[in-house]
Amino acid sequence: MADGTSLNAQSFADAARGVIAMAHFAGARHWVPATSGNFSARIDGRVAAVTATGADKARLTEAEIIEAEISGPKHPRASAEAPLHLMRYAADPSVGAIAHIHSLPATVLSRRHEAAGLLRLEGWELLKAFSGITTHETVLEIPIVPNDQDTDRLGALVEERLRKSAPVFGYLIAGHGLYVWGASAKDTIRHMEAFDFLLTAQLHEETAR
Ligand SMILES: [Zn+2]
Repeated sequence: MADGTSLNAQSFADAARGVIAMAHFAGARHWVPATSGNFSARIDGRVAAVTATGADKARLTEAEIIEAEISGPKHPRASAEAPLHLMRYAADPSVGAIAHIHSLPATVLSRRHEAAGLLRLEGWELLKAFSGITTHETVLEIPIVPNDQDTDRLGALVEERLRKSAPVFGYLIAGHGLYVWGASAKDTIRHMEAFDFLLTAQLHEETAR
């Protein structure tokens, strides 16, 4: 929305609180080792609060969060992966917050299923934790894209894949980790926890075969 308004517009301070809540949640669960991972929350249609480069997410403070333009020039303290957040906000006005984590099951499964280009999750009760899903009799196909250090190019590939996919709340980057989003920081925390549980269950099941 180019006029800067959005259904869930909020102040920088409120957006930063959401970013800190997501970062501390993930940090406490060891999903963002060695200053990896990043988190963001939309302020309005024009800007988002995003973690700055290098911050320890388990101890994130407001001073380590920047206000980045969604479609403007790059912020000098933006992390290398900021484009992957900003391009999601530009493409989908319903996205209010985004988390990126390097959890072990996400990293392992993303590499194991890279050739297929997707990971199929089906029959798990916890699929119902995702907004809009009401039964375990659901097939969720999580796109997997190859890793790429050029995050502008990677972001464009991700958005192309998501345009062709059934609606999802996340995707995997092969050998790298998970991106997950929701309408708010609270929804994104729930989706992050659901993904981690489902990916852990999937990994156990595949290993037991
Ligand atoms: Zn990463």
